[in-house]
Amino acid sequence: MANKIIPDEYIPYEGSKTVTIDGKDYLVANDAMYTFYERTKGEFSPFFKAIRDEKKILGCRCTTCGLVRIPPMVTHCPDCDFAPTELVEVGQVGRMNSTPPITYFATSLFLHMAPFGRGRVILNGADTAMSVNVYTSTGILVPGLVKKGTEVKMVFKDERIGEASDFFCIPTSELTQEQIARDGLLESEIDWQASVEPELPKASGEDVARFRETFGELQTLAAEMNASESTRRAVEGWKRDIAVKSTGGEFAMIIDNGDFRVEERRLESPDFVMVCEDLKVLLDGLAYRGAITDSVIMKRLWISKNFEFNTIFKLDRMARFLAKSRKV
Ligand SMILES: [Zn+2]
Repeated sequence: MANKIIPDEYIPYEGSKTVTIDGKDYLVANDAMYTFYERTKGEFSPFFKAIRDEKKILGCRCTTCGLVRIPPMVTHCPDCDFAPTELVEVGQVGRMNSTPPITYFATSLFLHMAPFGRGRVILNGADTAMSVNVYTSTGILVPGLVKKGTEVKMVFKDERIGEASDFFCIPTSELTQEQIARDGLLESEIDWQASVEPELPKASGEDVARFRETFGELQTLAAEMNASESTRRAVEGWKRDIAVKSTGGEFAMIIDNGDFRVEERRLESPDFVMVCEDLKVLLDGLAYRGAITDSVIMKRLWISKNFEFNTIFKLDRMARFLAKSRKV
């Protein structure tokens, strides 16, 4: 069990600071108050135990009308004069009952999971829908990828503790027939690198010239960012090698603990790939003329890994910090 209830990064250091209010100095020190508690899953225990120990999804079937509800939230059917229900296993493939809204801007508690879709799935063998998080292995989760009626498969985390966060769904179109057919599919069995890069149009001489010009502007901007103390703070402790591909050329964008550079070279093994048909989209974002996060959501800029949306946040932050520092 590696994860703690309170992540280490949320625990403040010992220390104090001086706060001045109405001309008077006050000393403020970090302190803590602990409250831990245990919470029972009660009658949901078999459902969560089956997920944790057997990678199975249980529902409850009414012994009279046969309706299968998931999760098994009733022990007696309210429609059949409270006839008892029995636990049954349901399928791990189903269809989305609604188009899941996508959360890009999550609170700090869910930031590590974003972007994610949250929708309701009707699993084969069940009559009611269950809330699930939805992901994709094809790069960034964008609107339209998973819709009402999309067939999805249940995937289980490798480390499970008996919580709703132990499982999620991905579209079956991203899986092999064998994976779709097999129950208890694990997250580590999914090919998360399988994202297919969008194809760029063939570059004309004009495109190449345009790329060269934009790339030059990008280099100038990157140099300015690299020299700005406040901009460097936006990517403190962050390290990413990003391969950027655009019509007319490609280059490396390096974030290295405050350092920020764009270099004309091909990366052998980048942390992720960024594709934008028009390099101006990226330039504008870094120059604080429209957010890069918006360009990703609007599909003007593609990234190869869903969770690298975090890095996109940081790039937007750099742009914002630089714009602010220029005003001072
Ligand atoms: Zn019933």
